[in-house]
Amino acid sequence: MTTAYHPGRPSADPPAPAAAPRPTAVALPTPTVRVRTAQAPSSPGADPDDPTRPADASSAARSSEDVWDGPLVDSFGRVHRDLRISLTDKCNLRCTYCMPAEGLPWLAKENVLTTDEIERVARVLARVGIVEVRLTGGEPLLRPDIVDVVRRLHAIEGPEGPLDISMTTNAIRLDRVMEDLEAAGLSRLNISLDTVDPERFTKLTRRERFSAVQAGIAAARASGLRPLKINAVAMRGVNDDEFCDLLRFAIDHEAELRFIEQMPLDAGHVWSRHTMVDGAEILAKLSAEFDLEPVGDRGSSPAEVFRVRGTDATVGVIASVTAPFCGACDRVRLTADGQLRNCLFAREESDLLSLLRSGGSDEDVARMIRASIGAKRPGHGIDDPGFLQPDRPMSAIGG
Ligand code: SF4
Repeated sequence: MTTAYHPGRPSADPPAPAAAPRPTAVALPTPTVRVRTAQAPSSPGADPDDPTRPADASSAARSSEDVWDGPLVDSFGRVHRDLRISLTDKCNLRCTYCMPAEGLPWLAKENVLTTDEIERVARVLARVGIVEVRLTGGEPLLRPDIVDVVRRLHAIEGPEGPLDISMTTNAIRLDRVMEDLEAAGLSRLNISLDTVDPERFTKLTRRERFSAVQAGIAAARASGLRPLKINAVAMRGVNDDEFCDLLRFAIDHEAELRFIEQMPLDAGHVWSRHTMVDGAEILAKLSAEFDLEPVGDRGSSPAEVFRVRGTDATVGVIASVTAPFCGACDRVRLTADGQLRNCLFAREESDLLSLLRSGGSDEDVARMIRASIGAKRPGHGIDDPGFLQPDRPMSAIGG
């Protein structure tokens, strides 16, 4: 296991003072954390929180034959089926809550996974149970061979047929490649949009690309990809006065809106619980104008979903901080520079890039992946006293 990114800086904010009383609205159901008492397969009774706990020794000891046996299960019984691949750390926006105006020190080209390497890792992961792949960034559409990446990943046979390929994008350039992406096998799209006010968009992203995003959304609507989702990060004093406008926009564009609680993954490490708008408050603001009805159990999906009465629309809240869904997590991440992360908030990474480029076999790759999943913690630990924000910012991890 290696730490791959910027030297860590502890999270700045002191413990949160008592929050002001909030308006009551549709309540977020208490998440059911399906965590088995921590009998890590390697050594019964091991403390899952013990960072020195050896990686899942059993995976390291797996022979070449049985490294392919069985799904990708961690020591809490969570089966991993969903791979998130960050195709690049670069982006054509400079969102204030994500990165500085000047951008970040981008990964050197030679340290970015080639498409052959991405395909190889995805093939190995499909052999151990991955059925879906979400492409993220930075901004994935900045990858020049994005259509070829989708085509080659969709051609991989997984446990349930061809891998299901989806993408999270800011939609700039989408109008130019939408048809090719759909023909290549892309099945779903999430478009990031935090405001429907063009001036506020320019201020928030430091770029005048609102009309390009609208053109991308129009192209997505014209495609056959469904459901079309829009992701909006909820931010106090930034867009918390237009949650209802965002929902109206989504309804008008036949898209499913997902509000996301802001997470401590910003490049500047200035995230604070004080400025975070939590799920309950998002629902309270929406309920002022919309009649919302909870829609069933969410399973491993991150969003709590609500039907908007009187419409066919739904709206979701991804309350990663206040109502975490770690107990049902089925995700593993691959960064653009070939580091495997067993959690969005992981502080350690597994260096697949070096293994791939030093003659590692597919069995070696599978063993490293199993070891990483074997060492996965029960959750993000944001509420833990010792919580430290990961060194790698969201823009280099991918959603
Ligand atoms: S924070 Fe980590 S464990 Fe929790 S849902 Fe996200 S990736 Fe999974």
